[in-house]
Amino acid sequence: MARAHELTVARRPTRQIRVGSVPVGGGAPVSVQSMTTTKTADVEGTLSQIYALAAAGADIVRCTCNEEAAAEGLARIIPRSPVPVIADVHFHHEMALAALEAGVQGLRLNPGNLRKPEEIKQVAAEAKDRGVPIRIGVNAGSLHPDLYTRFGGATPEALVESARMELATFAEVGFDDVKISVKASSVPLMIAAYRLASETFDYPLHLGVTEAGPPPGGLIKGTAGIATLLAEGIGDTIRYSLTADPVEEARAGRQLLEALGLRERKGLDLIACPSCGRAEIDVIDVAARAQKALEDRNLPIQVAVMGCVVNGPGEAREADLGIAAGRRRGHLFIRGKIVRVVPEADMVDELVAEAERLVAEGVDARLAAADAGAEAEAAADRADLLAAKGADANASEVTVARIRRKFGDDTDEAVAPTQA
Ligand code: SF4
Repeated sequence: MARAHELTVARRPTRQIRVGSVPVGGGAPVSVQSMTTTKTADVEGTLSQIYALAAAGADIVRCTCNEEAAAEGLARIIPRSPVPVIADVHFHHEMALAALEAGVQGLRLNPGNLRKPEEIKQVAAEAKDRGVPIRIGVNAGSLHPDLYTRFGGATPEALVESARMELATFAEVGFDDVKISVKASSVPLMIAAYRLASETFDYPLHLGVTEAGPPPGGLIKGTAGIATLLAEGIGDTIRYSLTADPVEEARAGRQLLEALGLRERKGLDLIACPSCGRAEIDVIDVAARAQKALEDRNLPIQVAVMGCVVNGPGEAREADLGIAAGRRRGHLFIRGKIVRVVPEADMVDELVAEAERLVAEGVDARLAAADAGAEAEAAADRADLLAAKGADANASEVTVARIRRKFGDDTDEAVAPTQA
């Protein structure tokens, strides 16, 4: 519902491929990927995870195909999956062929451990016949040993060269239905490698910081790498690699794209002030209760929870809906305009009820339904609060006076009030 501010940097032009029903590259929306952690042979368990990932924002899901039972699992999973499925293949080209037979919508091959040109060409030829794209999934941690020696390590140039060599092998059988990744667990290395890949190829790029670890560190590393590149216009599909429930990966991917204005908001965006000496409520508690209640209802809306009425409505005027606390009452506002003043105890319930009405009826209708006296009541609350607490809610000037006394300067000179 909230108006997304677009990134001003243009996306780098790439070719477009299709992973099943999902277009990737060539101006298509940046897609979110994640990977199941179940055994692929466990059909029901894997499908239930795929459904959870799709609900959390994954557009494409990858499953390992590491044994015959996994390929058989894929054959049963794919017809029932709500999103396209990519098979992740390492070492064994027969697993790639079996996954194609199972009907996967994409393959990921690691050129670092699937190295025999004849085998690679056999897979590429089969993928070509079936119209299935392949991701050349280069990984700094499993770079081909020859390249490691030639480049003196897993450098950006070595990672890009690995992708280029795989492309050359594919070209021998006329296959170029490709996207590329050059992942590393080091954020600076990953950024440099993708920048170079973007200059070198016009194939779509799949972004990720690999083995990023558990949240919050993993989220920070993933965001540092992925967001930096997206802000430069690089990247067509993304994955957070977290040591966590993969639903967190999908949710993070989706939220990052929404935060950058690269995808329409699908779920809640809760903004809340960090709280300060002016706060009239426990902002952390109210924000947590509001988030839980709003997420349960899955409302695509931006909601603000602000600790005080003095600054809250103004600071959060861009939010679709918000509430600010003051003098035991909550000021409910839509796009910065006060629409109702409610008792403090009812703040969260009122916020959630208004969110539902706002999504159902739209901004204009809800602004038109504002209480006539709400703005005046709110202005009176603000004035009372300022009179009671002044502009110095953090009592800084009392502290300053105390420090001055310590240094023997106890002249009680007036100190200019600080700004909030
Ligand atoms: S001034 Fe008010 S809205 Fe801003 S951080 Fe403090 S309590 Fe929150």
